[in-house]
Amino acid sequence: MPDKEEMFPHDNSLEKLPAPERERKLNEKLKQLIEYSYEKAPGFKARMEAAGIGPTEIKSMADLPKIPVLRKDDLIQLQKENPPFGGYLAVPLSEVERIYQSPGPLFDPQRKIRTNLDTAGTGKGQIVMNTWSYHITPAGMIMDRVLRGMGFTVFPAGTGNTELQVQIMHDLKVSGFVGTPSFLAAIIKKAEELGYDFKRDFSLKFAMVFGEMGGDALRKMFTEKYGIACPGGDTYVTADIGVIATSCSQNAGMHVNTDLIVEIVDPATGKAVPAGEVGEIVVTPFDEVYPLIRFGTGDLSSLVVEPCQCGRTTPRLPKIMGRTGNAVRVRAMFVHPRQTDEVMAKYPEISAYQLIVTRSENRDEMLLQVELTGEPKDREAWLESLKKDFQGICKVRFDNIEYMKAGAIANDARKIVDKRVY
Ligand SMILES: [Zn+2]
Repeated sequence: MPDKEEMFPHDNSLEKLPAPERERKLNEKLKQLIEYSYEKAPGFKARMEAAGIGPTEIKSMADLPKIPVLRKDDLIQLQKENPPFGGYLAVPLSEVERIYQSPGPLFDPQRKIRTNLDTAGTGKGQIVMNTWSYHITPAGMIMDRVLRGMGFTVFPAGTGNTELQVQIMHDLKVSGFVGTPSFLAAIIKKAEELGYDFKRDFSLKFAMVFGEMGGDALRKMFTEKYGIACPGGDTYVTADIGVIATSCSQNAGMHVNTDLIVEIVDPATGKAVPAGEVGEIVVTPFDEVYPLIRFGTGDLSSLVVEPCQCGRTTPRLPKIMGRTGNAVRVRAMFVHPRQTDEVMAKYPEISAYQLIVTRSENRDEMLLQVELTGEPKDREAWLESLKKDFQGICKVRFDNIEYMKAGAIANDARKIVDKRVY
């Protein structure tokens, strides 16, 4: 049965358009999405009414902050009050192909799975092992359909029981792997423990590995050490929205998908933060089935808007900097333990640290406590360099430093302690 015509078909050409032109097209789609959702999704309509706004007030992305951010907790509550989809299902149930449950618990209805017809037939005669679990994550089913569309023969494997996976991969002469980079690494390690020479004894030629941050190092290892081609790069995926951004050949951050709008906002107010600053990723997918407009992911990042060397002009997320709950806001900037970790990693002589945030006379202050394994040659120059790196990465300065004696900072101590009282 052919799919009903899509309201928001994927359009590859958007990725290379000059930004103003793309934004104009996305704004048109957005207006359409808002009007459609207001009419079809009673949960969204109620949310707009509660905020005192009508659909015609959203004319462009700049108007989006008028709509309150939809947080996962809100959606859990809405689904409880109005089961099963909290009033956000915008099509009849008969058009929903599958329902997934993500942690929360949250029900996630899904209809269409896009396949790329350009690549039909390219996988003929080859077996691919799909280790995305078929019944828990949408990725399992999506990849299954994509792979079969390309002509591959699929072995639905799932995760776990690494030794068995090694045997299957070997005996079936599997040529492709689909799953997380770390799981493929575990399979290769297990094969080597079992006495195989992976490159010689196995037929694995390519791996589509994604779903984890920092997979680039493993991809490089698979290619260089084992001759396994790894198309694609890092991908930012969430259970509720799906693929939000993917990296390109330039290794310069992840390009935002043109099937959705990404905003970076202050989690407290839902308003946009200035360009380049860190804030929460809020996503509006062009999804006519389940329009989660302004869905708050709870993940922190910033947005790079300069065009990329790869030719795409779409904005990029340099990386995911952690969850909003772990970050503290200091003088209007978010500071996350991952950022402070990144700074400290440049100074191997710092064996432990803790950043303490206080407030005096209406100003946030940060005291950095460090334990050193040795005395830097020139402590003043060392401190200047540390201050510079701290500001470069965290976008805000610390005020004071305190050198602690060994063992003063517990191993499991929180990296950032917020002692402010208002
Ligand atoms: Zn690029």
